[in-house]
Amino acid sequence: MLFGPPGAGKGTQASIIVDITGKPQVSTGDMLRFAVSEGTELGFEAKKFMDAGGLVPDHVIIGLIEQRLEESDASGGVLFDGFPRTIPQAEALSRITDVSAVISIEVPDDDIVSRIVGRRMDPETGEIYHISFRPAPEEIQSRLVHRKDDTEETVRNRLIAYHEQTKPLGDWYANRGILTEIDGTGSIQEVGASVKEALSGL
Ligand code: AMP
Repeated sequence: MLFGPPGAGKGTQASIIVDITGKPQVSTGDMLRFAVSEGTELGFEAKKFMDAGGLVPDHVIIGLIEQRLEESDASGGVLFDGFPRTIPQAEALSRITDVSAVISIEVPDDDIVSRIVGRRMDPETGEIYHISFRPAPEEIQSRLVHRKDDTEETVRNRLIAYHEQTKPLGDWYANRGILTEIDGTGSIQEVGASVKEALSGL
């Protein structure tokens, strides 16, 4: 499981873990955005929470995860990215399956806002860029998308939700002896090296 505040680089680092472990990435944020883009009832419900920077209700998320874990590619384990985000979600997950390791990417709040507001995504590949820290190649720049919830105001709300509801989970997993903290403030390569080191210790 990848744990950390919004904008810590969980999505970016997930690809390294997927490459090394071969396990599929399960990102509740991506699943919700897909539901929104498909115009499903779930997407319609979730959108108002997402646009405001709040958390989607636990029962919705737990239902999504239960369904996802029944798919055949999940039988050998998955990489959770952005889930769980509350203690009730973690408790529900512990009733479904065991969590073997949690990597927490630590980034101070002051860095988060500039990271998120400059973030852009390539909808064709899912690759994540940043206007200053990781500019996309010239030829794909016109197709990049700026997430609707990647604005300064929404980021502040997402950080509040993180501190109030998600951060306590770090202690929850630390108490279970499965949390590895890494410094997420370096370059993508530096953080990637720490992720690899954490993985090799598992
Ligand atoms: P993310 O892409 O992980 O930053 O998620 C984007 C938004 O989706 C969040 O700000 C929440 O509104 C919602 N979301 C994603 N995962 C969860 C979760 N596990 N629990 C509640 N809301 C979530």
